[in-house]
Amino acid sequence: MNYKNKEWLRSQYYVQGKSLNDIASMSHVNIGTILYWFEKFNIKRRSQKEGASIWSKVSPGKIRTGSQSSNWKGGVSRGYARKKWKEYHNMDIPRGFCVHHADGNKKNNSKENLMLVKIDYHSHYHSILRFGDRLYRNKEWLISQYKTNRMSTVKISEICNCSPATANKWLREFGVKIRPARIIKC
Ligand SMILES: [Zn+2]
Repeated sequence: MNYKNKEWLRSQYYVQGKSLNDIASMSHVNIGTILYWFEKFNIKRRSQKEGASIWSKVSPGKIRTGSQSSNWKGGVSRGYARKKWKEYHNMDIPRGFCVHHADGNKKNNSKENLMLVKIDYHSHYHSILRFGDRLYRNKEWLISQYKTNRMSTVKISEICNCSPATANKWLREFGVKIRPARIIKC
């Protein structure tokens, strides 16, 4: 399968300029699967801002666990996926992370399919699965993050992997009044 080939993925994305969505539909797989391989091959996504990844950049071997971890709260395991992840990696799930099924199939608990996602980003990730990688174009989502959750355009741009200006532009497009930037008085 082509999407499991790093060079193929890179050329589709960077040379052909295809979106993650395009690649997913060409490959007849879920966008989550493509995101998974991007992450696995460490392919940089188009982004104006670093740190825009919704995934954990931490590989299991590098996470401090147990008594070494400063915020260790004891390992409470819920669910089969969590149990399996712990078995595969022989460690507890670090605080602030949850286990996500890369292909969206909750019954597929293979090692390759179980991945750590930051809890904060997990629900956003599921929105991306539904709306594609141009999440900022989803009016309902964008407005609720900005107005209801009081999220900044910078934070939104990180989640959507776009620039703050793009987030701004779409908010205005959807008729949302942009909050004035905070003025800092010295
Ligand atoms: Zn999930």
